[in-house]
Amino acid sequence: MTETNHDDDRALRGETERIVNEIAQELRTLDSGTTWFSGLSLRQRKKALQEVAKYAMQAHITAADGRAGVARAGVKPTANPSVMICMDPPRYGFSGLPAGEHVTAFRVLVSVFAVADTRRRQTHCKNACGHSWHNLQALTQQQL
Ligand SMILES: [Zn+2]
Repeated sequence: MTETNHDDDRALRGETERIVNEIAQELRTLDSGTTWFSGLSLRQRKKALQEVAKYAMQAHITAADGRAGVARAGVKPTANPSVMICMDPPRYGFSGLPAGEHVTAFRVLVSVFAVADTRRRQTHCKNACGHSWHNLQALTQQQL
């Protein structure tokens, strides 16, 4: 049972990474990603939120990124996930939010990550980089 969960978690992490980065790189719409997220079980949604929060942390998002992301996400600035991400430093306990707020948390987190990650791709990573998640199309071609 534990092993099955472990395998499921690994598969879910891989899927989350691919989908979130496709959205950040405009290869997939936020709505399409939200549909995927909404189809997950409660346990999987919590895991996915923890995973995306980790990406946002690693991208070193700022309060300004938070505000820009919230605007993009189409979520009210007064919603709990919006308030949390715009704090300085941001608060990341999104998987602890009530289930009814998971979808808005996902939209906010992915959008804020997209803002910070796009800046990184356009500066630090501009002329190629070794981040596998920044080379999604190259990865796909290798698999063909
Ligand atoms: Zn990169």
